[in-house]
Amino acid sequence: MPRLSEFDIIKTFFNQPGLGARPGEITRLGIGDDCALLSVPPGKELALSMDTLVEKIHFPENAPPELLAWRALSVNLSDLAAMGATPVGFTLSLAMPAVNESWLQQFSTGLKNCAEKFHCHLLGGDTTRGPLTITIQVHGLVSSGQALVRSGASAGDNIYVSGSLGLAALSITRFDEALDQSLLDEAFYKPVPRLALGSGAAGLASAGIDISDGLLADLGHVCLASSKGAELQLADIPVSPSLEKSMNAEEALALALTGGDDYELILTAPPSREDEMQTLAQSVDTPLVCIGKITDAEGITCFDGLGEQRTFQKSGYQHFNA
Ligand code: ADP
Ligand code: MG
Repeated sequence: MPRLSEFDIIKTFFNQPGLGARPGEITRLGIGDDCALLSVPPGKELALSMDTLVEKIHFPENAPPELLAWRALSVNLSDLAAMGATPVGFTLSLAMPAVNESWLQQFSTGLKNCAEKFHCHLLGGDTTRGPLTITIQVHGLVSSGQALVRSGASAGDNIYVSGSLGLAALSITRFDEALDQSLLDEAFYKPVPRLALGSGAAGLASAGIDISDGLLADLGHVCLASSKGAELQLADIPVSPSLEKSMNAEEALALALTGGDDYELILTAPPSREDEMQTLAQSVDTPLVCIGKITDAEGITCFDGLGEQRTFQKSGYQHFNA
């Protein structure tokens, strides 16, 4: 079979039905021209976010292409969720060392499945030769002035976290015989972007962020941006129940607080909106628990069930720090 040209690759794998965006009210033009065209409705703002995954830095060599695609798109969608935005579409820049049709087939299938599930289709991109690198930029819409910015938290606000924490970090830190490998793969490669929770919280919650670096590290970003601090009740942290099978409660708690990659949301909201927050969580079928409060005093203080203060190393991953 003759080698596929760049244009064949785009047509066969990326502009395939279910993956490539089709023209509609917001997407005026998708793949195929020099630019895609989006129409932003009145009263909405365009939310943009981009994430890059580099082989051997963000994922191991020979990572399963379908799962890799799913992760690349879903972590971007999580950023939209954290802002309270609803996805419109995404662009993809793909660098790969050689044309491997089987890899492309699996990668584009994973991308298509994720795109269809979360209603976010491919608008365009770039295809080039180079070390395997996947860059995705998502585009979403949020009502003007209602985005969940990090700087919006006030003293006295409740701090909420969705879902449960720690399993994704476990899947990259150690191979664990006590746990099913497919469960670990799902946790790392298929985080569920909390889109319905995030968009429902726009205009309701005061601040939001998704947990990519770890609960303490990401809550730290909200505190810093809001010039506030936080008090956390450790007994209320939703530690992933699966962790109990392979470690003691202390280790599990530490992983839930400092391990990243779960892509759950941290939201803050004034106590006066507690009922609305719980109603929202129920209506979108997403677990949401209050884990503490925003304080005027800076820094994050953790209390155990007996009211004793505890400290943890905030170990969010940073690329350029030792
Ligand atoms: P240009 O040279 O004008 O930048 P390209 O030849 O790179 O255009 O791309 C042609 C069309 O294919 C464009 O619409 C571009 O957005 C799209 N495209 C290229 N690579 C990808 C990709 N990996 N995924 C989706 N669309 C792509
Ligand atoms: Mg051009």
